[in-house]
Amino acid sequence: MGEYRVIFFDLDHTLVDTNLQHKLSLERTVKQMYNGAVPEDFIPRFLTHHEALWTLYDRREITMTELRRLRFLRTWQDYNVEKTDSEADRFNDVYMSTLEETVIAYPGTTEMLEALAAKYRLGVVTNGSPDLQWRKMTIAGIDRFIPESALIISEHVGKAKPHPMVYQAACEALQVSAREALMVGDNYRADYEGARVFGMDALWYVPDPAIPGRHQGHVAVRRAEDVLSAISKMEQARRV
Ligand SMILES: [Mg+2]
Repeated sequence: MGEYRVIFFDLDHTLVDTNLQHKLSLERTVKQMYNGAVPEDFIPRFLTHHEALWTLYDRREITMTELRRLRFLRTWQDYNVEKTDSEADRFNDVYMSTLEETVIAYPGTTEMLEALAAKYRLGVVTNGSPDLQWRKMTIAGIDRFIPESALIISEHVGKAKPHPMVYQAACEALQVSAREALMVGDNYRADYEGARVFGMDALWYVPDPAIPGRHQGHVAVRRAEDVLSAISKMEQARRV
């Protein structure tokens, strides 16, 4: 049991630069909707609400539609402005229309996936929005290496990572056992610990320099060009 058969990746903050996408999309949306005339800290506040609401979405306490409305409404409420659901929906429509130009893979991602695809089958396991993830993969060019049939979205499973059901669904979709697969992702709890609890090996990979890469003495792989050699080392360790 040396070599893996399947390498799974997380999508957001692992393959695509989601922080950059949020920032660029919001800048464009605010420009289109309000000609840029919003309070100075509108975008960071919006992102703070987005993060807080995402925790609730992950726990299935709110829907994606509610998340998209509430992050908008709450941001304006911070400035004592009451907006309507329909304006929130329009804001979101404009936001979605910007994605073609704002979804970008991290540097080295294409080369990394190309090298890995020569050796393994690849998949994506994501907690992200069901209506967006395939589109993001297509825009970022990741669909060249990973087919839609190998995209596992937690909302379709009914639980979010780190729940083992998500990893089980991923292994079933690609017809491998946990021991035959490796999970690569930026989120220590969801991607690294979650996969390992299910019985899968995992590699903690954090390409975004703005996201911390240390956890209780564990140091993340930071560069796309180091992922393949890190995987090879893990395979060597399995042989002994
Ligand atoms: Mg992630």
